[in-house]
This record gives sequence, C-alpha cells and structure tokens, in this order.
Amino acid sequence: MAPEYNPSEKEQAFLAAVESPRYDRQMISGLRPFFNESAPDDMKGFYSEAEIAELQALSGTERDVEARMPVKLTRHYFDLAKKSPFLQRLVKASPDETLDLQGSEDPGYQMDYSPVEGLLHKYEMGLMYVVSTCSAHCRFCYREELIARKEIERNDGTVAKKGLAQIPEIIDHIKKHNKIVEANGGLHPETGREKLREILLSGGDPMVLPNSKIAAWFAALAEAGVESIRLGTKEMAFYPERFDDAFLAMLDRFHETWPDVGFRLMIHFNHPDEFLLKGEDGKYLENPNGTPVWNAVTKKALDGVVSRGWINVENQAPIINGINDDPDALRIMQRALYRAGVGNHYFFCGRDIVAYRAFNVPIERAWQILNDSQKGLSGVETHARLSITHYKGKTEVAAVTNEPIPGLPGSENGVLIFKILRNAADAPDRGKVCIVGRNPEAIWFDDYEDRVLFDEAGLYDYVRKHNHAVEASTAAD
Ligand code: SF4
Repeated sequence: MAPEYNPSEKEQAFLAAVESPRYDRQMISGLRPFFNESAPDDMKGFYSEAEIAELQALSGTERDVEARMPVKLTRHYFDLAKKSPFLQRLVKASPDETLDLQGSEDPGYQMDYSPVEGLLHKYEMGLMYVVSTCSAHCRFCYREELIARKEIERNDGTVAKKGLAQIPEIIDHIKKHNKIVEANGGLHPETGREKLREILLSGGDPMVLPNSKIAAWFAALAEAGVESIRLGTKEMAFYPERFDDAFLAMLDRFHETWPDVGFRLMIHFNHPDEFLLKGEDGKYLENPNGTPVWNAVTKKALDGVVSRGWINVENQAPIINGINDDPDALRIMQRALYRAGVGNHYFFCGRDIVAYRAFNVPIERAWQILNDSQKGLSGVETHARLSITHYKGKTEVAAVTNEPIPGLPGSENGVLIFKILRNAADAPDRGKVCIVGRNPEAIWFDDYEDRVLFDEAGLYDYVRKHNHAVEASTAAD
C-alpha cells in the first residue's frame, strides 16, 4: 500500500506563503510548427528548407529524430541560438543523430540502484527524477530515455517507462533507510550505505515545475532530516526569467524556516554564447577592464541566486562534439562563471546513450580540450575535473600521457589514467586507478577493453548488480 504523507504544521505554514506565478516561455514543441510553417514568422527560418525536407523524410521511420529525443525550444534560447552555430547544434534536430542508434537504453544501469520509482540511491546522495521535461531540450541529453518516455528493461526483466518520484514514497524510503543506518552505527547492514543526507532534484528540469511543487519537495526533504538539497537545472540558459522574485522569496523563506539545510544550485552552461554578448564582428563585448559583458537578463537571474551567500552555485556540462569541444570557449566560460560566483564543478565525457556516437568527443580529446582550456586560468578557476560515468560510479579521466611508461608493455603510445571519484556503498574503490594504453578514437570504456594495463579500480571486471543487492524499500521495514 502506498505510504501516506501528511505535511507538518511547519511545512504547511511555509507552503502557504509560496507564490507560484505562471511563466510564458513562448516554447515551440516538436518539429511540426517548422514543417507546417505555424512557427512565429521570425522563427520560421531556424531550419533551412533542405533541413526540413530531410527531417520530414525521416519522420515516422526508425530514424525519426523526434522519437529518439523530443524537440523543444524557448524564445529566449532561440534569440541566443540564431546568432550562434554552437547553440543551434544544441537544440536543433539533425538527421545525423539517428545514423547510428547504438547505445544503452539505461546508461550506467541506473535502474539497478532504484529502490523506489523515481529515486536513484547509489551513494549518500540520492537523485530524484521529479519531472520528465525541460523548457527546451538538448539533443545530446543523457536522459533521452526519460524525456522521450521510452520503455526500459529493468534488472528483474520487467519493462516500463522510468517513473517519477512522489513525495510519500521517497520520504518513506529516506526515513526508513536513515533509521536503520542510525541503529546500525552509521552504515546500512545490507548495502553499506551511509545516511541519505543529500538529495538532488533532477529530471528533466525541476525549474519547469511551479514554485509550490518545488517548495513541497524542499519542505518534505528538510523535515525528513536531509542535510542538503541540490537542484539541477539548465533554466539559467533556457529561460533565466524563471529565477524571479517569487522564486527567490521562496528560497529565502525556506532558509529562514530550515536554516541548517544547505542548498546547491547545479546549473548547466555548455558554451559562453549562452550568457555573454557578442558584437557584429563575432567577438565577445568587453567592459572597460577587459572582462566580457554578460547578457543582462541572465546576469540578473544569476546574481539573484549568487547574492544569497548560503546558496552554492556550481556549473557542470558535458563536452559535446560541435558545441563546446573548443578550449578557448571553455576557458572563457570558466573564467566568466567563476568571476560571477559560480564554481566549475565537472565537465563530462558524453555517456553511452542511444546515438552517442553523434555527440561524444573521443575521451582523450575531451581531456586535451579541458586541459588546454585550463592553461592560463588561476588555481581557483580550474577546479573542474573531467568525469566519465562508469557503472561503478563517477570516474575521473585523470591524465593522458604522450610518452610510454618505461617497462610497461602496451604503453608505447602513452597511457590514459582513470581514477574512481565516487563509488556506491561506503566508496571502497574511491581513489583507485585504471591505466589503459591510448586509443585516440575511444569514446566509451569498451574501446579500451583490449588494452587494459593495470586495473586496481576494477573498471574492466565489473559485474552487474542484481536486484537482491539493491536495498528495496520493503527490506527496510
Ligand atoms: S536540460 Fe538536461 S535534462 Fe533537459 S534536455 Fe538538456 S541535458 Fe536533458
């Protein structure tokens, strides 16, 4: 039977004061408005006639780009993208996307770590899918299976769409898990996990939900004893006006009500064209001191969040072919964000999503791009690491050498070193490395399978977990 959830008086008082305005993002959903010319006049030329003809020809076939990943765009992002080929590639559907549909329907076997629908519980942090759409859609999205509502085969053989998190079930799971952990001296007796102390609201983009819904999640998580809440969003790029006074007032009230609960906003800028202004000559405009000029709407939105010192704001983004595989763009972005009060958290190698070969940059090239981008940056501006998500957990692409390692056969063309950053349970493999011989074409772990030289991390003898190893909600009763 589904658990019941009754908000406390404290939650009710907080929620009663939350304002939830409606927003007009002027979104265009799907390709149809471009096919039948019902898109607003100034947007009609976003796809050329040749592009439309090609996409229309694929529609309804197994190479249908919209079936792989729904198409969506806001007016704000359209205005930015019409001046930037990089942003166009981020939101415009392209026939190339479905040339090779190889990839995993559940990248990282995430469902192996889902004890409750909509929750991934792998570490001391839990990730929730609270919504299955965003204001606009990135063509390279890691969650295409969720956004396109695809049916996923789970570990137990059942097939179903990924479900969304619901407050009663999630809060029930957190409380039961944390109670058992507390009674067992800090670790869960079956799975070795710590207290669930941090929860990430993800999706889709939680910022498409009304403030009332976001606030209900925050309040319920705070009352359940969660220590920090994160919210992952690309809305700062797609529709910055969403970070308005009503949203900030909700955050302020939340902080007043639960001052010990931390809040981290994980934003997602891929390219400086998403927030810096360019002149007619294509160069970024500069202030008198040489710093780049921000888009005023985006800066106002960001300042609203950053000025609240109790909120941490961090940027993380994948490095994607044709969008931001450019050291200069990444250097400008890291400098500008850090100066504006945003930490540079991770850059990611693309995941093994369906059609990943259309988007992913070879792993060694991604490392080189990030490394080159960080030359000339100060120490505090270069905090970002390059992460690739292994089934075991987040793994850093820590180094790539050009020279062989003396005495190590297979290293003649240099090596790549992976290092495990995050690992399920009590992180037994954190810090362990795996060294592979170089393969400049490699875009996923399996491209190194034939050249593993040293693997204390166990990346290449991974055995998929089975459901009995996942802490089912009922086992916590
Ligand atoms: S904002 Fe994030 S979840 Fe939404 S489409 Fe882009 S990558 Fe996917």
